[in-house]
Amino acid sequence: MEADRVVIFDTTLRDGEQSPGASLNTAEKVEIAHALELLKVDVIEAGFPITSPDDFEAVNQVSKDLRDTTVCGLARAVEKDIVAAAEALEPARKPRIHVFLATSAIHREHKLHKAKSEIIRLAVEGVTLAKSFVEDVEFSPEDASRTEPDFLAEVVAAVVDAGATTVNIPDTVGYAVPEPFAELIRYLLENVGNIGKTIISVHCHNDLGLAVPNSLAAVKAGARQVECTINGLGERAGNAALEEIVMTLKTRCDYFGARTGVVTNRLVPTSRLVSALTGLTVQRNKAIVGENAFAHEAGIHQDGMLKERTTYEIMNPEDVGAKATTLVLGKHSGRHALRARLEEMGFTFASEQLDDLFIRFKALADKKKEVYDEDLAAMMEELLAAAPDLFELVSFQISSGNELVPTATVRIRMQESGEVQCDAATGDGPVDAIYNCISRITGIEATLLEYRIRAVTVGRDAQGEVTLRVVSDGVTANGRAVSTDILEASTLAYVRAINRIAAGSHKGGSATS
Ligand SMILES: [Zn+2]
Repeated sequence: MEADRVVIFDTTLRDGEQSPGASLNTAEKVEIAHALELLKVDVIEAGFPITSPDDFEAVNQVSKDLRDTTVCGLARAVEKDIVAAAEALEPARKPRIHVFLATSAIHREHKLHKAKSEIIRLAVEGVTLAKSFVEDVEFSPEDASRTEPDFLAEVVAAVVDAGATTVNIPDTVGYAVPEPFAELIRYLLENVGNIGKTIISVHCHNDLGLAVPNSLAAVKAGARQVECTINGLGERAGNAALEEIVMTLKTRCDYFGARTGVVTNRLVPTSRLVSALTGLTVQRNKAIVGENAFAHEAGIHQDGMLKERTTYEIMNPEDVGAKATTLVLGKHSGRHALRARLEEMGFTFASEQLDDLFIRFKALADKKKEVYDEDLAAMMEELLAAAPDLFELVSFQISSGNELVPTATVRIRMQESGEVQCDAATGDGPVDAIYNCISRITGIEATLLEYRIRAVTVGRDAQGEVTLRVVSDGVTANGRAVSTDILEASTLAYVRAINRIAAGSHKGGSATS
């Protein structure tokens, strides 16, 4: 590989999926993986196979589907994790196993209760085992930024000897600041004798808002892989935002002298897709992909822009794939137009699915005249969310008003027996009444942790999107739904969350690098 090439390692599906409130089902993960392949990232970390059957399945399915991109599975430095990762990655054309083990004093003493020599032995064993399954092995000393540099150098040298082709230096807790972090990378490059046999990677968390600056400082110091996520998703304050890393390296190539293989005009469509599927909205002023990222309001700026764009613009909006929401389709649009638009938005689907999509599209176009990209994204999301459910909403009815006690009647089909159960309940408001009624029918008492409603597009006939999170007996689950009727969206979102609770497909697994 050329010396100036930086490997983009996307961990949206693993670290990003650990974001509170961002659980994705396998179909959604596969959809995002396809979009990431179109974006031409180099490596996709698709999950942590040992943590749950869902994670295993996602890594396995992504491995089957992707052609050009390396697919990576995460594993602790223990045998069962590495074996599970190898099994999940079995169908991948380019598999990578990513082994991690904490190395900092605080983790050694309080979490692992192990001496330095023991840590090195376990790291080497982990890499050696992973190497017996795949050629491409990455090792991460967790909490590297708080590890004594001389010990870190010892660990790195040992795992490179064992065959690690990439060594990742994570700032697991988001503690690093740019100059010392770059200094650490330089120290490793200068003091580890066999460092030339591996690629140094970084993985920075954004607790202090420094994930991107730290990653870039590391690149300047010689790191040649950056781990990042779309929209900066990730645990707590998130990871380094992929779009910011890529566009900084491109825009300031003069300074960094490094480049990526990313197709930059896919950045905004990919960001929108991830936002739609995770339900985590992107702030308007977010760099590169925010709605306002290329909006110029100040009169003097607009005047300058009209005369010469580069007076106030360092990037072309087209370079990142940003364009205004366009009124794309309507009632009379045909299935070719629908397919073309969906493909342009980065969705992939089988020809058989087009019929179903077209029926959904027609129903939507009948309800609202103008169908925007956001409506299409919501429609795709509905399709992907469709999973075998224990409870299926048949109908609901609500009476509500300022002088009435809100009362809901709900009918739900129980998938196991096929019978439809009906009940009624009151509540403080219509949504509360519906949720009380669903609890009575399903027998699942859940507490609403979060409930958000927003209009998907402009206009009074816009579709309403409801995103919510519930907890029941310590199990949390998300639900999302879109409808032109906000009470219907509220009901469907709740039924989905209850189905996830019932299926036990909650977010498991442990916090990791
Ligand atoms: Zn992380």
